[in-house]
Amino acid sequence: MKILVLNAGSSSHKSCLFDLAKDNSDAPNPLWRAALDWTHQAGSVELSASGGGESVQQVLPITDKAAGIEAMVNTLVEGPTQVLGSLAEIDAVGHRVVHGGRDYVDSVRVTEAVKATIQRLIPLAPAHNPANLQGIEAMERILGDTPQVAMFDTAFHARMPEAASTYPGPYDWVEQGIRRYGFHGISHQYVAQRAADMVGQNIADLKLLTCHLGNGCSLAAVKGGISVDTTMGFTPLDGLMMGSRSGSLDPGILIYLIRQGGYSADQLDTLLNKESGLKGMSGLSNDMRSVIEAMDQGNAQAKLAVDVFIHRLRREMGAMMASLGGLDAVVFTGGIGENSSLVWQRACAGFEFLGLRLRDDLGRTKDDQDIAAADSAVRVLVIHTQEEWAIAQACLALG
Ligand code: ADP
Repeated sequence: MKILVLNAGSSSHKSCLFDLAKDNSDAPNPLWRAALDWTHQAGSVELSASGGGESVQQVLPITDKAAGIEAMVNTLVEGPTQVLGSLAEIDAVGHRVVHGGRDYVDSVRVTEAVKATIQRLIPLAPAHNPANLQGIEAMERILGDTPQVAMFDTAFHARMPEAASTYPGPYDWVEQGIRRYGFHGISHQYVAQRAADMVGQNIADLKLLTCHLGNGCSLAAVKGGISVDTTMGFTPLDGLMMGSRSGSLDPGILIYLIRQGGYSADQLDTLLNKESGLKGMSGLSNDMRSVIEAMDQGNAQAKLAVDVFIHRLRREMGAMMASLGGLDAVVFTGGIGENSSLVWQRACAGFEFLGLRLRDDLGRTKDDQDIAAADSAVRVLVIHTQEEWAIAQACLALG
């Protein structure tokens, strides 16, 4: 079954094509991959694609997102990256959709009603749901009535107990839907299942702490296969310190900034989402590699940024362990989680009292790995997240 996956964002689109059999238990390499970068240069888009052992990169004079998606999809059937004779060979299209609100606890086949719900939820995800919907509509135009599936970033967290999902504001908030939704659910769900497979146990019997540390960072407490707590909340701004987002703050700081600094909602949005976190604190970059490099060269602000990142990470890891009531394995994923031995070591050093011990010979490998010492009481797994493959699997399951 040939499945096209689209991850449509506001400034980039990523897509890949899988050829899946019913019994794929490991993620295969996609037949084709492509991306659109809308930030490359005003008035144009950068298209890169690879397939059939070839790759191309070109800048196209396109500003319309749907036209960009069409140009990207056409590299499947023409040019050096061609892997299909015709687009009619595509059996299904899977989409990552950021917000499914309280409406979706699982992936769904896209219908007019599903599109209307994604549209209705735009106020909850103003930067993401419009782009996701646009991606679905562009694929409808290109591929006609090929079945489409939406997999929501919130869905894995939708079974959280009420005590974990409710914010302690006025009760009105419960009715208004102001609650913890959680995000990165596709990744947390994939790595939790992969962790269970790696330790050779049923996920129903495990207490897992999954750490997705990329540009955005979040943790999930996965008990018996269900997300029972997570650090992102009503929006992806809650919880851990991130690349350019602050994570949790004393809400009194916002009241102070509004009263004393005359900040507007839009200014606060930019400040907390784009000018905080590693970028705001280091004054250098939202990229962990650059911040660590500056710290190693003696930059004090970069060192403080890394120290705060680690402190917040450990603190929230502790909170997730309390929600789990135990711990069988910690999983690291995302760009930072998959690559940074400094983060593994410093995050885990807080939990030696649990009998958690890392191996001495830590290093990045291409394969998923267990970095805990043989006698550690808790396994520590580094897993390459496979969100696109998880979306393709959801298509297969609904197909
Ligand atoms: P996104 O959330 O945008 O998908 P990624 O998951 O690719 O982002 O994560 C990007 C982050 O991963 C950046 O902060 C980057 O510096 C970090 N990263 C990648 N490789 C390393 C590494 N070897 N050491 C530390 N951080 C790394």
